[in-house]
Amino acid sequence: MSEVDFQRKPVIAGNWKMFKTAVETRQFFKVFNTLVAQVDHCEIVIAAPFISLEVAVEETAGSPVQIAAQSVHWEAQGAFTGEVSGPMIRAAGCNYAVVGHSERRQYFGETDETVYKRTAAALRHRLTPIVCVGERLEEREDGKTENVLTRQFIEGLGSLTVEQFSRIIVAYEPIWAIGTGRTATPAIAAEAHEVLRTQAAKRFGEDIAAGLRILYGGSVKPDNVSDLMAESGVDGALVGGASLDPRSMALIVNHSGESF
Ligand code: PEP
Repeated sequence: MSEVDFQRKPVIAGNWKMFKTAVETRQFFKVFNTLVAQVDHCEIVIAAPFISLEVAVEETAGSPVQIAAQSVHWEAQGAFTGEVSGPMIRAAGCNYAVVGHSERRQYFGETDETVYKRTAAALRHRLTPIVCVGERLEEREDGKTENVLTRQFIEGLGSLTVEQFSRIIVAYEPIWAIGTGRTATPAIAAEAHEVLRTQAAKRFGEDIAAGLRILYGGSVKPDNVSDLMAESGVDGALVGGASLDPRSMALIVNHSGESF
């Protein structure tokens, strides 16, 4: 696959999970905005809790930072207590939504089927989905990583149209690396990204696969981001813990450009 022929603008995305009030959100951006004001080498995305989305959008107006929701429901409205829909997220000013994060899969019953439905809904409402896949430690140790990623890819994304698929971002997040301080080596990340890109080529064609941005997530920090980004198949990072501090997130954003 001729990846070099395709320009894939890197994406550095932060996932705040269930952290930061609206006031803390404002405090974060007061510092962060000044540190990334000139950034052009990558897209910068911050996934804030639903209740802080509007504040985050307001604080980042005119900056290169884009705001994401951490999930999106598949219906536009209805009796779905606790859920938030694509039109609501769009109306808050967001352009992205994280879908299928492993914590959603583990604690809130997210399945490949609901990942598909949420991804399709995000696309319907002009949100770019950042769709997370990744294997558990025991699956890796049992040699099942490729099978798990392939299943998650086919069942979660395989039914999208080519046009829909061309608008998504995939995040490879090995569950054993999330919040553990145990980062995948660049070689492990590259191998998993290749599995995903190969699936993308099989189902959607070589050109679409070559344009697909695949982020790595799992204990990304300022001191390991450059090595990960040096892999040609790694197009960015999804950052949890280290995205909560504006200085550390800005270092990751800025270091992600070192290998270009
Ligand atoms: C995440 O929440 O998606 C994540 C990768 O977390 P961390 O960077 O803390 O491992």
